Amino acid sequence: MSYDNDNIFAKILRGEAPAFKVHEDAQTLAFMDLMPQVPGHTLVIPKYPAQDLFDVDAATLGDTIQVVQTVGAAVKQAFQAPGIMIAQLSGAAAGQTVFHIHFHILPRFEGLEFKLHARQVEAAEVLAAHAERIRSCLAQGQAGKPADSGTPGP
Ligand code: AMP
Repeated sequence: MSYDNDNIFAKILRGEAPAFKVHEDAQTLAFMDLMPQVPGHTLVIPKYPAQDLFDVDAATLGDTIQVVQTVGAAVKQAFQAPGIMIAQLSGAAAGQTVFHIHFHILPRFEGLEFKLHARQVEAAEVLAAHAERIRSCLAQGQAGKPADSGTPGP
């Protein structure tokens, strides 16, 4: 199977479908999952047209996972989540439903189970408010971020 230019994330990237964006740069886009399994469920995608984990080059993957880390920290702060789960489904048998590689960021709380995958569309005003909370935490993070020392840290 080859990359389908008409998948929904390709349309979001081209501005042909709406998204509640939380971060965008030259290589990546992060936005709210339309059918969140938990409040704050966010997706990070590379702009590069790759279907899954095995269809993407190392540099693109590196850029994407760095954004997963940064946006993941903002989601954690925005939802006061003690834990964050990162999920990446590659292949229909693994449950992948959109064939443009993406990482799920899912806030987790002990005792709070998440909803079924991709079932229930959340209200636009809720997604907009959640995106705003995450963007605000990202902005705070940028402001307080130490300069890159160039040495690997703990
Ligand atoms: P996966 O099943 O891992 O391929 O995940 C695809 C995710 O995309 C699911 O969690 C869906 O809820 C989500 N999704 C589908 N359509 C949209 C959309 N238009 N905007 C945002 N998220 C979407």
